Amino acid sequence: MNSVKKLTLLACALFVAASMAYAESCCVKAKAAGKDCDHKCCVEARKNKKTCDKCQADASCCDKAIAAGKACDHKCCVEATKNKKACEKCNPAKKEKK
Ligand SMILES: [Zn+2]
Ligand SMILES: [Zn+2]
Ligand SMILES: [Zn+2]
Ligand SMILES: [Zn+2]
Repeated sequence: MNSVKKLTLLACALFVAASMAYAESCCVKAKAAGKDCDHKCCVEARKNKKTCDKCQADASCCDKAIAAGKACDHKCCVEATKNKKACEKCNPAKKEKK
C-alpha cells in the first residue's frame, strides 16, 4: 500500500472541500425563493427552532432568522429577498485560502 499516495489523495479531497466556495446555505436560498428548505435535516432543525448543524454550520443572520421562524430584518437582507436573492453581504462566499 502506498500510504503517501493515500495521504495526498486525502489532502486533495480536503482542499477541494475547503476551497468550494459556498455562499448562502440551502435554507437561505430556499427562503430567498419564498420557500422553506425541504432538506430533512433542515426541516427537523427548524422544528426545534435551531439552525441545521449540517447545512447551516456557518449560520448567518438569515440562517438564524429562519431558525427563529422569521425573515431576517437586516435592511440589506430584506432588499436581497425582494429580488429573490440571498444577501451577499451577510451570506458571503467562503474566502479561498491560498
Ligand atoms: Zn437547508
Ligand atoms: Zn440541513
Ligand atoms: Zn440576514
Ligand atoms: Zn444582509
